[in-house]
Amino acid sequence: MKESPGTTGLILNEPLLFEKGKKGRLGISLPRRDVESFPVDEALAGEGPNFPDLSEVDVVRHFTRLSTWNFGVDTGMYPLGSCTMKYNPKTNERQAALPGFAGAHPLLPAALSQGLLKMMYDLERLLAEITGMDAVTLQPAAGAHGELTGMLVFHACHRSRGSHRTKIIVPDTAHGTNPASAALCGFSPINVKSNEHGVLAPETIAAVMDEETAGIMITNPNTLGLFEENIRKIAGIVHAKGGLVYADGANMNAVMGIVSVGDLGVDVLHLNLHKTFSTPHGGGGPGAGPVCVRGHLERFLPVPRVVERDGVYSLSEDYPDSIGKLLAFYGNVGVLIKAYSYILSMGRDLKKASQLAVLNANYIRERLKGILHLPYDRPCMHECVFSDKNQAAFKVTTLDMVKRLMDYGFHPPTIYFPLVVHGAIMIEPTETESKESIDLFIEAFKEVVREAEEHPEELLAAPQKPKVTRLDETTAARHPCLTC
Ligand SMILES: *Cc1c(COP(=O)(O)O)cnc(C)c1O
Repeated sequence: MKESPGTTGLILNEPLLFEKGKKGRLGISLPRRDVESFPVDEALAGEGPNFPDLSEVDVVRHFTRLSTWNFGVDTGMYPLGSCTMKYNPKTNERQAALPGFAGAHPLLPAALSQGLLKMMYDLERLLAEITGMDAVTLQPAAGAHGELTGMLVFHACHRSRGSHRTKIIVPDTAHGTNPASAALCGFSPINVKSNEHGVLAPETIAAVMDEETAGIMITNPNTLGLFEENIRKIAGIVHAKGGLVYADGANMNAVMGIVSVGDLGVDVLHLNLHKTFSTPHGGGGPGAGPVCVRGHLERFLPVPRVVERDGVYSLSEDYPDSIGKLLAFYGNVGVLIKAYSYILSMGRDLKKASQLAVLNANYIRERLKGILHLPYDRPCMHECVFSDKNQAAFKVTTLDMVKRLMDYGFHPPTIYFPLVVHGAIMIEPTETESKESIDLFIEAFKEVVREAEEHPEELLAAPQKPKVTRLDETTAARHPCLTC
């Protein structure tokens, strides 16, 4: 007997479209021909891709079935540390889809784009307010793109002072994109270690900061989910030697409305709108990494900039010191609209969201810490980092445990990152999960740890319930078999 469509309940099997196609099947009904038939050129007919012939229902079912094999924040908890995979209210999608926004062509003259330009102008002001910074560009298309923008601003600022600096300090708890962005801009990243509490010590920075160093890139909260409590002192040390301070604000989800980054001595900061400000971003969809600067760096921001005069908005290129353009047009406008809608729909008050994100992460940290090893046992921000040290005796690793979590219906957390923790398990529940779902997650994790101790061999084959079970990851990456 041929395999029936159902395997587990209604998780339906699905062949390739090429296997499904049947010669002559059509996706549309055409009216009866009322003109002479015309022979298609033989040579032409033989060319082109050999697409399968399919009916409309074949195609709809195919893609709808495939979509149910996926896991997203709309189907369950997605506790991926350093990513802020929170639920994004659908109203924000709706505002971005308004015909006036969605249909606006980037080449429309300013006179016909007043609404869009006002939205961008207002969003810049709102982000400046939220971060305590002075000026904002919305142009960068992602966090790492914002970092590159920040590094170009650093470079332009030092050049304007007639100084040539070649190095950037990057701590081991920074996000991996930080040293990459610095290097892309031509700086040599100087790696420094955080202390036994998981944060940077001022002495460490004082020891490496010199007149050839352009500044420092600090991820705050850092990738251990800890707040860099010495950041003000560190900024003082860097500034005293003529350097600048860059803060990677992709983890702003922990500190919105609580920390004024401008008051910490930060000169440049980027935000990840697609993490903190409501754009779904699993799968690498469009993002936005606005860059916020202190007043003294505003003249270096990318052009064009949105300006307002007597209630009329326009785009200005009149910034001779600007680092130039970073992206075609003005940024990923759809993402900007969602962020704007998110901020306004929260009554411009984002403090509660951050407080809940921090509370949820600390709740998980407290409830799992007796079971999983907690390398830095102190209150965390929006995420907490465990390791597999306690399970080493049973020869069970981080990978084995989080694979098993999938059998319980949870997306695995981030693993083996940050690199400073061996066998890291990095959990970020976000503010949008209820206590009930977080409790279920904790119970599932406890169950997995119990299994690790009692039947470690079973975990090595996990997961068993998803469509695709345990893969040999190297083979899967090097020789992907897309038909199985
Ligand atoms: C996600 C993230 C980045 C990179 O952002 P992208 O939009 O993926 O380029 C940088 N820093 C931190 C702390 C992040 O979490």
